[in-house]
Amino acid sequence: MSEPIVIHVAAEPTFGGLYQECSRCGYVLQDYTGSHPMVPEDDAGMGIPFWSVGRPVAVQGTATWVMPDGAELAPGEIECRATS
Ligand SMILES: [Zn+2]
Repeated sequence: MSEPIVIHVAAEPTFGGLYQECSRCGYVLQDYTGSHPMVPEDDAGMGIPFWSVGRPVAVQGTATWVMPDGAELAPGEIECRATS
């Protein structure tokens, strides 16, 4: 069994792009300030790269990538749940 693919939503980055969470559940998508270093695949060359705000971001284990807007959930993909 492979790990499930969880779809998060990129929130506004903070600390100048060093830190970025999921706007829905608070999952840390990027943290160059501490213990969760991850490098987005897009938005390179714009200073510190971060996930495009509002874009769906898929996470599977330690892998992360941007989903196409409006993409249907594929088998094995789940959306994260709001914590509030
Ligand atoms: Zn999330």
